[in-house]
Amino acid sequence: MSLALNIVDLAVEAAEKENGGRLSGIEIEVGALSGVMVDSLEFCLEAAARTTKAEGATFSIVSKAACGKCTDCGIDFAATSFYQHCPGCNGIGVQITGGRDLKVTAITIEEESPDV
Ligand SMILES: [Zn+2]
Repeated sequence: MSLALNIVDLAVEAAEKENGGRLSGIEIEVGALSGVMVDSLEFCLEAAARTTKAEGATFSIVSKAACGKCTDCGIDFAATSFYQHCPGCNGIGVQITGGRDLKVTAITIEEESPDV
């Protein structure tokens, strides 16, 4: 839940920097290894947005595949777990290089209409 609150805070802050209008859309990228459950995140976001400028905004959650790099043979590959072996040399010198984080990638701000 605190994660959802952080995302909403971030988006609202960004909107205020722009022109202070309401937010109509927020796009969030969730890495496959971030440990975030997309369904529950969506639910929490809607709850977190209530009574803020982001209330009623559409949240689009995009999952991003994780990737890893082998420090032994140097190949890049799609990672499915933190503890996987390299698919090339079966070594364990694997670094997760992407898909661990969650970030707000885009926000849509509505123009402030003067007569509402
Ligand atoms: Zn390897």
